[in-house]
Amino acid sequence: MPAEYEAVIGLEVHAQLRTETKLFCGCLTRFGAPPNTQVCETCVGLPGALPVVNEHALHLAVRAGYALGCEVQRKSQFARKNYFYPDLAKGYQISQFDHPLNVGGFLDVALEGPEDKTGGSDVKPDGSAKPHRMQTRRIRINRIHVEEDAAKNIHGAEGRGVTLVDFNRAGVPLIEIVSEPELRSAEEAEAYLRNLREVLVFAGISDGNLEEGSFRCDANVSVRPAGTTKLGTRVELKNINSFRFVRQAIQFEVARQIAQRTAGAEVVQETRTWNERDATTRSMRGKEEAHDYRYFPDPDLPWVAFSTEELDRQRALVPELPQAKRARFVGEFGLTPYDAKVLTAHPGLAHYFDSCMTELRQRLGEVQSKKLGKSLANLMQSELAPKVEYAGSGAEVPLGPAEVAEILIMVEEATISKTMAKKLTLRAIETGLSPKALAEREGFIQVRDEGAIVDLVRQILADNPQQVAQVREGKTKVIGFFVGQTMKAMGGKADPALVQKILRKELSS
Ligand code: ADP
Ligand code: MG
Ligand code: ZN
Repeated sequence: MPAEYEAVIGLEVHAQLRTETKLFCGCLTRFGAPPNTQVCETCVGLPGALPVVNEHALHLAVRAGYALGCEVQRKSQFARKNYFYPDLAKGYQISQFDHPLNVGGFLDVALEGPEDKTGGSDVKPDGSAKPHRMQTRRIRINRIHVEEDAAKNIHGAEGRGVTLVDFNRAGVPLIEIVSEPELRSAEEAEAYLRNLREVLVFAGISDGNLEEGSFRCDANVSVRPAGTTKLGTRVELKNINSFRFVRQAIQFEVARQIAQRTAGAEVVQETRTWNERDATTRSMRGKEEAHDYRYFPDPDLPWVAFSTEELDRQRALVPELPQAKRARFVGEFGLTPYDAKVLTAHPGLAHYFDSCMTELRQRLGEVQSKKLGKSLANLMQSELAPKVEYAGSGAEVPLGPAEVAEILIMVEEATISKTMAKKLTLRAIETGLSPKALAEREGFIQVRDEGAIVDLVRQILADNPQQVAQVREGKTKVIGFFVGQTMKAMGGKADPALVQKILRKELSS
């Protein structure tokens, strides 16, 4: 982007709430059901059918407010947003307007540089700062309101060139999260969305499934001369359903607006749609065609009112959020930021890590257990992660925390080697047997009988006089060759540190 202009972006995100049933009726919200099988008088908008609010949906929306630092309102109001479209049979959407549930709030957006796997502290051993550290920027949230989803138009349905309407989605509960226009680039907007999705998924508020449309975004984009504060004319980008498209659409739009202004033309306020095929945005409707929604309070619904006790109860149900989790994994257990990121990629994985740490704490105590955090992280990433099955916010790991703790403790006590620990993990998964019993039965236990190792080492040295001569000439690297030979001869069951010690002693005598 030329230095003279800066981008200004505000996002409106729609997230479906994780409820069994719809916002104003008892119909199921399950995705993928045959069209129009999860419908009733209320959600297809028949005259006279009355809405009854789903309390659980409101509770999830309250938790979203707390998770994002909002002032959750004790009283809020549903309003009718009037417009005509085939996917909105009632002729209005029930939303919130003057009195939304949550006001204010913020999201700390982590902006990453290239990956830093060395982790730990922010400084290198020589005291200089590490490059590319994670930065965070606080983006303020204007409000989060509750509303119902519309039905879904299926264009060109059944190859008949007609549009059919599926009302299964009509009335599914949504929250709309409206940011302040504080994002400054396409990359920041993408990072904001990723972080926001992660918070909602971790708190069990939304399943955040982009492919199924449960997490979608409209992007408002304008540009202005760098250093000025007055907002430029904005364009609203609709119809974006992937992180990549958000970034590309905003990049394209910012460039288009700058080119427009550089050429001396005005940016026109309009709604544009992202066109995947040729990677451009295209005008959908101008300002003249903008809707006048004529909001008014919905006379069929009472004010939403919460007691302080209820709000406190919901606040307490917001779990530790991913950024805090990552900071704790790094600070408390000595994980690298990279490990912490991998292990918080899914709430189920993070929960499993914590369960294993709890097991270790119960067996080894606070101080000792913390030292095994890094080994646990390694084992999870190498041996376990590929075998995990994810379902919703849970993760099915084929080995229990107690078994994992057993394995890590055996390594810590040098009963088995690290290499053996990996094999043992796989065997324990295969057989479903206790790692301890398996280790004994299948001979995973490390040989720590010095005498046996000494005999073997002497034999190997005698068999390889050339290499022995090399070591004596000062080529100490050749010791590695002997370690390898010894380990191989012992089927990996020797303690490598002990082998090293014995080798050095034998070679120097
Ligand atoms: P509306 O409800 O008409 O879409 P709002 O004022 O509620 O308008 O703003 C919607 C979104 O647009 C917000 O996320 C806000 O941050 C963003 N926005 C408003 N003005 C601008 C602008 N000039 N440039 C970029 N984003 C903007
Ligand atoms: Mg808007
Ligand atoms: Zn219904």
